[in-house]
Amino acid sequence: MVKIDQVFRTKRKSIALIIQRDGRLIVRAPLHTSDKSIRSFVEKNTAWIKAKQAQVKTAYPQVAPKKYIDGEKFWYLGRQYPLQIVDRLNPPVKFFDRFFIDRSAVCKAQWHLTQWYKKQARRVISERVKIFAAKNGFAYRQVKITSAQTRWGSCSSKGSLCFSWRLIMAPLPVIDYVVIHELVHLKEKNHGKSFWEKVNTLMPDYKQKIAWLKKNGPLLQI
Ligand SMILES: [Zn+2]
Repeated sequence: MVKIDQVFRTKRKSIALIIQRDGRLIVRAPLHTSDKSIRSFVEKNTAWIKAKQAQVKTAYPQVAPKKYIDGEKFWYLGRQYPLQIVDRLNPPVKFFDRFFIDRSAVCKAQWHLTQWYKKQARRVISERVKIFAAKNGFAYRQVKITSAQTRWGSCSSKGSLCFSWRLIMAPLPVIDYVVIHELVHLKEKNHGKSFWEKVNTLMPDYKQKIAWLKKNGPLLQI
């Protein structure tokens, strides 16, 4: 029997199976789907799930799943900080040179930390986009923070810039590179010669940033 790691019921029309980079199976289902129909959907797709899990395990270096225990390290802006479990903390996650989490929130630590990271991502990345756009004359519509697993950023044809909240775990100069990359896409859709020339003008050492992401990107997990 295939193990289901997490189920999210949301306002959606059909069941979706998501295999995360660590091989975990996430099920997204419409609000009133029963456990039984989720289970039967998963059983029907066992072959696909197993193949996909095997594929991600070879494609991505496997990082040990987090245990959310005292002293365990978490990334933020390119550095790793220890987690400390404390009593009576409100809001349940705080950061002050280390991560503090309320004892009663530990059982849902991944969710609580995700909320915290998303908030920081929205604040920091929106600010960086604003600065670089103003400085270099780029006009964008809005900044969206996504939960993308494999893409750090993307740019829609309507001028929306999307960034994965996971990017907030990277150093600021690396975040700036992704911001510049997506801003340049407002003018150059493809990764052609003129695209990279424009990126190079705005950030001459961008290749170092790409290398950092390639090496450390898979570690930016919670
Ligand atoms: Zn691109």
